[in-house]
Amino acid sequence: MQWIDLRSDTVTQPTAEMRAVMVEAVVGDDVYGEDPTVQRLQAMSAERLGKEAGLFVPSGTMGNLIGVLAHCGRGDEVIMGSLAHTFLFEAGGVAALGGVHPHTLPNLPDGTIALEDIRLAVRDANNPHYPTSRLIVLENTHNRCGGVAVPVEFMLAVKEIADANGLKMHLDGARIFNAETELGVAAAELAQPFDSVTFCLSKGLCAPVGSVLCGSKPFIQQALRLRKMLGGGMRQAGILAAAGIIALEKMTLRLGEDHRRAAELGDLLASVDGLRVEKKAHATNMVFVNLDESIQGSAGEIAGRLKSLGVLASPTGARQFRLVLHYWISDADVKATAQAFRQALSV
Ligand SMILES: *Cc1c(COP(=O)(O)O)cnc(C)c1O
Repeated sequence: MQWIDLRSDTVTQPTAEMRAVMVEAVVGDDVYGEDPTVQRLQAMSAERLGKEAGLFVPSGTMGNLIGVLAHCGRGDEVIMGSLAHTFLFEAGGVAALGGVHPHTLPNLPDGTIALEDIRLAVRDANNPHYPTSRLIVLENTHNRCGGVAVPVEFMLAVKEIADANGLKMHLDGARIFNAETELGVAAAELAQPFDSVTFCLSKGLCAPVGSVLCGSKPFIQQALRLRKMLGGGMRQAGILAAAGIIALEKMTLRLGEDHRRAAELGDLLASVDGLRVEKKAHATNMVFVNLDESIQGSAGEIAGRLKSLGVLASPTGARQFRLVLHYWISDADVKATAQAFRQALSV
């Protein structure tokens, strides 16, 4: 069965061009620093993000973990949103592996955090009761806040607080190119207030594996050792990096199509009885849909019916779905999805 798979943009398969360049990729032992394709991807990534250096890592989770471990020691505190991916979905790695204490602050619906909350969260460094504030982690686009792009003005305002208190800044930019596309602001400018940034090649950009962590040269030197420590040193990784280069060069330029289809799917679903579609400013490739009171079944039950109609959708709550648009979802799939919802809800 040819699924319409809207569960995530992580389900994207590599494109035909990616598969072709993977076969031909010139590779070497990257732990020896001898893989020219990995080096090329890292240099291109750093340039695109406006940083001195980049490091290819197996996942966004590892990129964020290395970022936190590089900036913080045991007993240090990291400030982040209560809906941050790093807080919710990275297996508590910063605490388990780094002894780093997460200090979460309420995320607002637009993916930001109240600046006053951040100011108040910074600890008095002279009081021995407190952990030591060291780092602020922000996310762009913000996944659990609806996949919204967060404007750079917010990032700059947080950076002022960070500078005033000697804190570092890390950006979980898993989908930073979706933010770049939606805001019309270059990824380098979005990443500028940050000491380090992670972005994913393996989501909407369609590469099979990998993320890149970018920052200053000394930061990446330290990150290299941490990657090795975590078991993330990969050998002939140029096979993967080759696909990453296509992801970065080409796939970053077409994300607007996914955003357009997400908006169209949202509009179509808004006209289906029983559905309430969340409309957000700076939405990108995600649609969040809620079941209204007229619908008896849970999101789980509806997902089962959708599956029998060829549509895969993830419930993100008892009454909510997140639908993610990506390269492998066509205009026809968008229409078919709306039709499948209509049918699944009319049972
Ligand atoms: C997917 C994702 C990550 C982690 O990436 P993996 O490669 O799945 O480990 C980090 N942050 C955000 C916002 C994500 O959506």
